[in-house]
Amino acid sequence: MRNRRDLFPNVLEMNLQARRRLGCCVYLVYHGEDWLLIDVGYEETVREIIDLIRSLDFSLARCRYIIATHADADHVQGLRLAKELLPSAKTVGHPLAAESLATGDRILTYAEIPAQGISIPMPLVTLDATINEGDVLRVGDLELVTWNTPGHTQSQLAFQMGHLLFSGDNIFRDGCVGNIDAHHGSDIAAFIHSLERIRDSKVEWLLPSHGPCFRNDRRLLQGTIDRLKTYQHMADFGTCASDWPLLDEWEAELAAGQGRPQ
Ligand SMILES: [Zn+2]
Repeated sequence: MRNRRDLFPNVLEMNLQARRRLGCCVYLVYHGEDWLLIDVGYEETVREIIDLIRSLDFSLARCRYIIATHADADHVQGLRLAKELLPSAKTVGHPLAAESLATGDRILTYAEIPAQGISIPMPLVTLDATINEGDVLRVGDLELVTWNTPGHTQSQLAFQMGHLLFSGDNIFRDGCVGNIDAHHGSDIAAFIHSLERIRDSKVEWLLPSHGPCFRNDRRLLQGTIDRLKTYQHMADFGTCASDWPLLDEWEAELAAGQGRPQ
């Protein structure tokens, strides 16, 4: 049996466990014999991850849940295969993620970005149950409380376990956030609200879906919130911005008969 390299008590992360980058963060939360997975990543790494889990002496039959933090391909392309290999697990996610996964929405899941030549298979999967704000997932004596944290996408969930938050694509250690993209249902105002909620919570550690864990540092969160607030008024963010002050300035200049080179 390999040694379990706990990230926190009762929490493993499979990239950390493998000591190399497999893809998105795949968290395994366990108590006693029972365990659950938060995201599974791309299909091509699912077997390796499950072999690794088996080598850590977990019984595959005791997997209670496979959670989809949201429906992006890099988080859940392997969900159908994982469901086949872990038939005792209940697959769960936000209702909108369930819809995208069941219908195979290739735009919302980032399986298809035609302008960049990105096109990958997205196996259809029907979630066993949908979860939303306040729902509690239990593994042994541990409880994960579901947070609805829209912004990156409308189906983005986070999960609080005591002083830990499995924070999805809300924010990463360098202050970056999950991709802001109109076709992905991104909403900057909702994103700011989700980040404020994290900032103001009693959560001490953030366990993101990409990169290493980090402290819920108020200054880091505030810096990111302030940056996103500027995005709301920048043409750079297209239809995700709420306004573009330059157009108001221009309108005033036009009305005043200005606008020619001075
Ligand atoms: Zn992601």
